[in-house]
Amino acid sequence: MPYEWWADFSSWVYDMPDRGVGESESRKLLRRLRDTMAEEAAGQARLDKITHLTADSMGTEVCSIYLFRDEVTLELCATEGLKEAAVHQTRMKLGEGLVGRVAKAGKVVNTADAPAARGFRYMPETGEEIYSSFLGVPIQRLGEKLGVLVVQSRTAREFTSDEVYALEVVAMVLAEMAELGAFVGEGAALAARHTEPRLMRGTMGQEGAAEGHVWLHEPRVVVTNLVADDPTKERARLEEAVQSLQVSVDDLLASAVDPEQRAVLEAYRMFAASKGWMRRMEEDIDRGLSAESAVEKQQSLARARLAQAPDPYLRERLQDLDDLSNRLLRILTGQGNETGAEMPADPILVARNIGPGELLEYGRALKGIVLEEGSVGSHAAIVARALAIPLVIHAGGVTTEALNGDHIMVDGDQGLVHLRPDDTVVGAFRDKMAMQAKALERYASIRDTPCVAACGTRVHLNMNAGLMADLPSLEGSGAEGVGLFRTELQFLVRNQMPKRTELAALYARVLDAAKGKRVNFRTLDIGSDKVLPYMKPNDEPNPALGWRAIRVGLDRPGVMRMQLQALLRAADGRPLTVMFPFIAQFDEFRAGRAEMDKAIARERRLGHPIPEHIEVGAMLETPSLAYAPRKFFEEVDFLSIGGNDLKQFFFAADRENERVRRRYDTLNTSFLTFVEGIVTRCREIGTPLSFCGEDAGRPIEALCLAAIGVETLSMRPASIGPVKHLMMRVDLKALKSVIDDARDGGAQSVRPAVMEHLRELD
Ligand code: PEP
Ligand code: MG
Repeated sequence: MPYEWWADFSSWVYDMPDRGVGESESRKLLRRLRDTMAEEAAGQARLDKITHLTADSMGTEVCSIYLFRDEVTLELCATEGLKEAAVHQTRMKLGEGLVGRVAKAGKVVNTADAPAARGFRYMPETGEEIYSSFLGVPIQRLGEKLGVLVVQSRTAREFTSDEVYALEVVAMVLAEMAELGAFVGEGAALAARHTEPRLMRGTMGQEGAAEGHVWLHEPRVVVTNLVADDPTKERARLEEAVQSLQVSVDDLLASAVDPEQRAVLEAYRMFAASKGWMRRMEEDIDRGLSAESAVEKQQSLARARLAQAPDPYLRERLQDLDDLSNRLLRILTGQGNETGAEMPADPILVARNIGPGELLEYGRALKGIVLEEGSVGSHAAIVARALAIPLVIHAGGVTTEALNGDHIMVDGDQGLVHLRPDDTVVGAFRDKMAMQAKALERYASIRDTPCVAACGTRVHLNMNAGLMADLPSLEGSGAEGVGLFRTELQFLVRNQMPKRTELAALYARVLDAAKGKRVNFRTLDIGSDKVLPYMKPNDEPNPALGWRAIRVGLDRPGVMRMQLQALLRAADGRPLTVMFPFIAQFDEFRAGRAEMDKAIARERRLGHPIPEHIEVGAMLETPSLAYAPRKFFEEVDFLSIGGNDLKQFFFAADRENERVRRRYDTLNTSFLTFVEGIVTRCREIGTPLSFCGEDAGRPIEALCLAAIGVETLSMRPASIGPVKHLMMRVDLKALKSVIDDARDGGAQSVRPAVMEHLRELD
């Protein structure tokens, strides 16, 4: 039974106490709130009225609304019962006082003795000292914190669960009203939502700057009818919508073959049939909410829990519930995926997360991508990089804040997102883009010039690729060939294992597009951070040091054989270059080569043409290979240093771990000396050597690698221009002396000396 987690999960999400149904009072209050909403009134007047109505209906002396002024400051925006003069004066920081505590934790505080409660802070200007009981509930919408709603009374008592619930419903309606702009206007308590400039700090996913307009991957459903008079009718609407949801999930399930997709759909079906979920929504309806508000209320609750979920598996399931709620809302509101909005001409995609396949469907039409979640190594990030689309990940709140069509600027270099930027930001940003465009022009002008350093040293610049979409860059960037073709990308962006014929067709298209330029196909490099969606992940204590790349290829040779055969077929007699990833010792290379020989023999038997020239190389990604027997260097047709992995093993610093991955400089004397040792060995034995890690595309690093004798560098296509431009102006022999002097002088890294030298050149 795959879903043992279900029982635990549902109680974890819905662990609120059961409440009696005292709906008539609450329905009355909701109706009055709705009327307030319908009235023509300024924002402040509406807020005042709501505090009045709520206090009256709940029988408390005080009701106050605190709203966020900025991300960390709450302001008393309306009150019934506290001193009028404190309105718009009393402010507190997130976490400060009881109100701040409610906001920070996103949880209810209910106490009979407020002054004695943890975190209480006395605000003399409000006159609240006489009130003993305090009930505060967060005002939040789909995980976004908007403020806090509080009732207080003199009598020392805890509020009943029924009262807590009633206040939560009011808070929810308030949040929805805020979203609809109900509190904007004369004497405005709130600025209109989604109109202010916002700066979001995320993490860099792919460099580059882009300006455009927001295109939401999943447009927000707008709920306008928050409150309903006829619960029977609303229950029936909900019931019908849930049924049609169940049918649609069943249909999807019937046609889904991919096990991963099936697992998600099974989880959807489980939720869709969940009695707990349904019961909660029906209770909300009985309290006076419309069917869609009831769905949204439970969705908000799940989102709030999502933010706190410790376990990634639980988080995923909560995300399933969230997706399902969106589907249900679409059914109820009739707002389809296509909300009638047209994709702007310069779309910047905004999404919580996105799969690589979906991203490929948008393709190069996108000017930029902003994700609320995601990770640097995610498949979507890999695709964005391959397409060279600026990407910012972890941009908190972007999906709740951005609206379709909003003006947006994405700074992929620094991980910044300017949503609805003001004129100063627009000016500065455009200057930056203009400078980048100028640089691009400069690079274009040297595109077809061979890369020869000022001292006359010829350096070969290749590009890294992995998708068909990369190939046009071979011409555009001026790359001399593809130094690294990461074949795993084809496996990663699909939901199932590709077939040999598909791969053969794809590799043939790659070779066609390369028009005779060399393409180094690397056999499947999976494991570690690259987990195939359709392969059961291995629970390994140390995946980077685990069962990955050639280790998987040799232990389960089926896929590798299929791949080698596909490559031979694709070559169709043309020259072919293949390399094996992550070779740590000689016999792994020999075993890989033996597979190649077997594949050739088989093709020959079948009467298929054999490439006129085949080279089989190895990637040097572990220090051990640098010390392999001389015979290995003689047997291997070429070596390519996978600097990303080599560096992580050389310094024992995980390349995926933000805490340590930048800790050791590539220009660290030890590392450079080590690479130089490999260069020397290769030279002595005559083994062609290249370097294809990320560092090859960083201009200063590229210079130093070339200076110590690496003659071929392979990098992202966008890096070729900047690297070549600098390389052509620098005397590598002089730079080598600078490196040697710094090393002899005891420098830990040669970077300062190199930078100083380059500054002198300017
Ligand atoms: C490397 O390790 O440097 C490399 C090029 O391979 P990947 O980044 O795909 O592991
Ligand atoms: Mg590697």
